[in-house]
Amino acid sequence: MALRISRIVEALEPSATMAMAAKAKQLKASGKTVYDFSLGEPDFNTPEHICQAAIDAMQAGHTHYTAANGIPELREAIARQFKDTHGLTYGANDVVVSNGAKHSLHNVFTTLCNPGDEVIIPAPYWVSYAELVKLTGAVPVIIETEQANDFRLTPEQFKKAITPKTTMLLVCSPSNPTGSMYSPADLAALADIVLERNLTVVSDEIYERLVYGKHKFATFAGVRPGMQERTIIVNGASKAYAMTGWRIGWTLSPTNIAKAMSDLQSQETSNPSSVSQYAALAAVTGPQQCVDDMLVEFAKRREFVRERIASIPGLSCPEMGGAFYAFINIKEHLGREYAGVRVDNSAQWCLTLLEQQNVAAVMGSAFGAEGYARISFATSMDILKAGFDRIEAFISGK
Ligand code: PMP
Ligand code: GLU
Repeated sequence: MALRISRIVEALEPSATMAMAAKAKQLKASGKTVYDFSLGEPDFNTPEHICQAAIDAMQAGHTHYTAANGIPELREAIARQFKDTHGLTYGANDVVVSNGAKHSLHNVFTTLCNPGDEVIIPAPYWVSYAELVKLTGAVPVIIETEQANDFRLTPEQFKKAITPKTTMLLVCSPSNPTGSMYSPADLAALADIVLERNLTVVSDEIYERLVYGKHKFATFAGVRPGMQERTIIVNGASKAYAMTGWRIGWTLSPTNIAKAMSDLQSQETSNPSSVSQYAALAAVTGPQQCVDDMLVEFAKRREFVRERIASIPGLSCPEMGGAFYAFINIKEHLGREYAGVRVDNSAQWCLTLLEQQNVAAVMGSAFGAEGYARISFATSMDILKAGFDRIEAFISGK
């Protein structure tokens, strides 16, 4: 007899990024060389001084439960770093440290959403947002944005999407999956509407440190007076410090929301790993040169990827202001055959690319944008070069 699964979990879509990465890993395990652009995770090792802090923490006996919302030193350090960078003041009790930013997002939606509430999510969106919103019984309202506008939600689109049930806007800048960014002025224009309509903003700022060239990062909480009181900032150690496996994410929010999320976490998971918290403390308080060094490498790869995409007929992508993704428009190459295999949509395109060329990319449909494929360039230049040669061969039918 098959056991019954709850309706809410049965309706859940599994993470497409994780699923594609698992497929690529399976192929690798069967002995194939795979050019894996599926997962957005830095290929660099966690910097040495951060690993050493974890070893020291273990040896010093920091291997027990901590406060559910994280050790005070780490929460203070996160608040201090935010003040130094953005000039906004938060206290240690406004910070909640969780098991990765994905868990932070779960805390945010569970704490703020009631069944039937509408959460506006611009598409393309990162795979987990809509599913985490649905888990609470709230309704994700997906608003399509245009490549011609670098996939930014316009104030007009935002206003049109608001109904009496709307409670929240979610923004991710720099964006996963598109790499595009909202300028401070773009955010301020959205903030005016948020303030006027009394809404809350969830600002996923996990790619804050990975910003290229002329682009400038601005925290949503600081673009207008009054926004700090109605913004929940999500951030973490995974991307900037190459710490995906350590599972440390955090929020900065008004104190009453932080207290509620901390209470929730005290029932759901207790504290995130004590050892990882000490590692994150070293990351946030230690030398930041490692972040700059990784950014230099990402910038070189971004340039390479941009050139390769531009050189392949029929492909294009928006301006990659930050993060480490290219969101490639493949529309001209749908509705045709690849070595005898008919390909009509982005899922088929990515699966056929994997089967024929051992290149793993993630279908745009998983991010709410049919006709695109996402590649992560958080991988070595050698793999990027070989992978793009294969994408080119795939498209040209050679
Ligand atoms: N937000 C965005 C936009 C992401 O790309 C990711 C991917 N890792 C997360 C949140 C979650 O990060 P973490 O690994 O810290 O859970
Ligand atoms: N955020 C990364 C990505 O989009 C990691 C995978 C995930 O967390 O879903 O590839």
